[in-house]
Amino acid sequence: MAALSALFEARASMRSDGKSLTLQGIGASPGVAFGPAFLVERGRVRTPRYHLPPEKIDGEVARLHAAVELSDRQLEEVKARVARELDAAPRPIGGTREHALILDAYQSMLRDPFFLRELATVIRDERLNAEWAIRRVLRQIKGSLGGGDAYFRERRGDLDFLGDRLVKNLLGQAIEPYAVPPAGSVLVARDLSPADAMVLLVRGKIAGLVLDQGGRTGHTALLARAREIPAVVATGLSTARLAAGDVVALDGVRGTVILRPSPAELTGIEEGRTRFLTHERELLAGRDLPATTLDGVRVELHGNMEIPEEAPSLWAHGAEGIGLYRTEFLYLDRREAPTEEEHFSAYRALLQTAGSRQVTIRTFDLGADKVPGGARRHEANPAMGLRAIRFTLRSPRLFGAQLRGLLRASPYGRLRIMLPMLGGLDELREARAHLALAREELAREGTEIAERIPLGIMVELPAAAAIADRLARECDFFSIGTNDLVQYTLAADRGNPLVSYLYRPLHLGILRMLDFTVRAAHDAGIPVAMCGEMAGDPFYAAILVGLGFDELSMSLGSLLPVKKIIRALDAAESRQMVAEVMKLSTAEEIERFIRDRMRDRFGPLVEER
Ligand code: PEP
Ligand code: MG
Repeated sequence: MAALSALFEARASMRSDGKSLTLQGIGASPGVAFGPAFLVERGRVRTPRYHLPPEKIDGEVARLHAAVELSDRQLEEVKARVARELDAAPRPIGGTREHALILDAYQSMLRDPFFLRELATVIRDERLNAEWAIRRVLRQIKGSLGGGDAYFRERRGDLDFLGDRLVKNLLGQAIEPYAVPPAGSVLVARDLSPADAMVLLVRGKIAGLVLDQGGRTGHTALLARAREIPAVVATGLSTARLAAGDVVALDGVRGTVILRPSPAELTGIEEGRTRFLTHERELLAGRDLPATTLDGVRVELHGNMEIPEEAPSLWAHGAEGIGLYRTEFLYLDRREAPTEEEHFSAYRALLQTAGSRQVTIRTFDLGADKVPGGARRHEANPAMGLRAIRFTLRSPRLFGAQLRGLLRASPYGRLRIMLPMLGGLDELREARAHLALAREELAREGTEIAERIPLGIMVELPAAAAIADRLARECDFFSIGTNDLVQYTLAADRGNPLVSYLYRPLHLGILRMLDFTVRAAHDAGIPVAMCGEMAGDPFYAAILVGLGFDELSMSLGSLLPVKKIIRALDAAESRQMVAEVMKLSTAEEIERFIRDRMRDRFGPLVEER
């Protein structure tokens, strides 16, 4: 297990000898926070390597099994302790069920016969000690995960967590108990496994979270967002540059972290926090107001979510529904696909909390970088490979279980089913046939299913946008996934910083596709949403209103700022702005034009750019 040592000194004052240092990371959960650092060090364990005489082999395998059992019991204790603390918590805590599942996933890994057999084989065949066998086998598994992106780094972190726990138990080293972060501290860690996060974020009343590593979509970031704890991830080396108790300040929107802020910086941060909180309060006052423009055009604002426990926070920020539930997150941390029953209960629970709100559940967007542990195939161009609907159509059992789960959950609320990465009508028709088949089977079994469940598609391939008029005739709604539409149209990998200068949502090529897609949807009488990150950026709100989107779906922190802008916009004026923009040619010109207009009108709300 991860060595965990709390080095906190209850000293909120700045170190007089330390210089302030600003680090740039990724804003993972909005808000401004500062406080004394609570350092969680996950120092890796030194792993001995030696050969064994033949007569010691059986004993070594037995030693391994004993350490595996001990680790399993320890995880069970962590789960029980967290459950007790959750029961005692004053209010429901988001993100926790998913995290309990991750602890379960660690335990299933420990109980996995394949894993145990591999370990024993290394010990027997190579006569190596158990500690080294663990490192060797986990290294192989990590190698098979491939991928250099944040998601795979996190999964590799999970495996390190397990490996450290096993090795420490073999070496008889004590595993420190979780220390309680003092209220108001900023938790700083190299990385935080979901198990650590679950205990530390749930238990303490921390002010903020800073991670050297991690990504915006990591489970720890998701948990921070669900708990509304400001967080910055991927800062580089903040832990190495801090001593316990040093003051740390962070801005979870801009992704900045200041270590040991100077008195002047601290005053600036305090003012920033007061401004953020006042602004939040003002925004929250508009929570129940509709996103209607001054001239009466109504735009629905929905939330994007990855774990079901995010839903209550989305409602608290005025989400009118769920516009995108990325269901692949149900599967990413485990080796076996979710069963039909698991799909059913996750979707039913979500629909029940949503009540009369609309819930758009996207079928698995697996493939490319999102492949469950160990199952990675090697493709030369995974982003253009067997991903999303292509992947599910090739995996009828996987798709069938999800569709049956969705259909069974449908009577519990207002469900819409959405298919990712459609390239053409063939895929839409094939997916519809799978859905019809699942419906028939369930009807034969006497299962109740909602009579009408809208089936829509994500428009995220340029080909789909180009034939939007044809697709619109055969589906019930569109949702434009600009994260992918921009990357595929401009051939600029959304995660590659070398080409980020090319990744411009306001490229005329993109705007023309958006315009054509919205018109095609409306001509066919179906609604059109946007659920890519572009939808949640206040800077684009006027353009999106002007283009005529019916619904915008975004993450929690964007809902209220976007609503505020929409309520101050005039739709007719926005349409005029789109007409003017369409006469320009370069992304640069278009960005400048919109920036000037938006700044004149809204100042601080869009001034970041
Ligand atoms: C998108 O591509 O814009 C989208 C919302 O899907 P994802 O980010 O999950 O690929
Ligand atoms: Mg996408």
